Amino acid sequence: MVNTLSTKCSNHLCNWQGDLLDLVQVHQANCEYILRLCDNKGCGEQYLKKDFLQHNEVCLYKLMECTYCHTDIIRINKGNHDVECANKKVKCEYYDIGCKKEFCQRDMFLHEDSHQAQHMRLIYQQHLTSKNEVTILKQENAVIKEKYVEVIQGNIAIKEENGALKKTLEVLNEKVNQIKLQVKTNTTDFQI
Ligand SMILES: [Zn+2]
Ligand SMILES: [Zn+2]
Ligand SMILES: [Zn+2]
Ligand SMILES: [Zn+2]
Repeated sequence: MVNTLSTKCSNHLCNWQGDLLDLVQVHQANCEYILRLCDNKGCGEQYLKKDFLQHNEVCLYKLMECTYCHTDIIRINKGNHDVECANKKVKCEYYDIGCKKEFCQRDMFLHEDSHQAQHMRLIYQQHLTSKNEVTILKQENAVIKEKYVEVIQGNIAIKEENGALKKTLEVLNEKVNQIKLQVKTNTTDFQI
């Protein structure tokens, strides 16, 4: 029998307890509470071994592969690189109006040079289409204005009719009052 010597792990926050042999032979290599220096170049941050994945998710100096050119870029520069990467596929500036070409960003100026005439034609066609659209909109606008005037006129007619009805009602009320008065004074022979 070997005498076992009970001891604790010296790493801050670690609750491990056991015999010294275990500590030296097994635990020290596996302790999750050992402080580690991030080995991503330029980082220099320290974290507990158990937090490795957490740090890896946010480390600004972790190398990330660009999906366009397959170069490794540190995370802190990845955003800019994704925008500027010469290998990135882009659409022609005039894609929406008819130049359905796609190419690497680095070839954009080449394309613009070689397709100047085509682009000019597309812009001109677009201009004509816009002009037609404006004409159609103007016509539609005129129709709406006419309808609006009709509605307003309709409204005025209704108001006038309303006024006439009110007057008729007043006259009728007056007559009713007269009749009531005549009935009260027992006049049997009345005329409306
Ligand atoms: Zn430990
Ligand atoms: Zn790091
Ligand atoms: Zn790239
Ligand atoms: Zn184009």
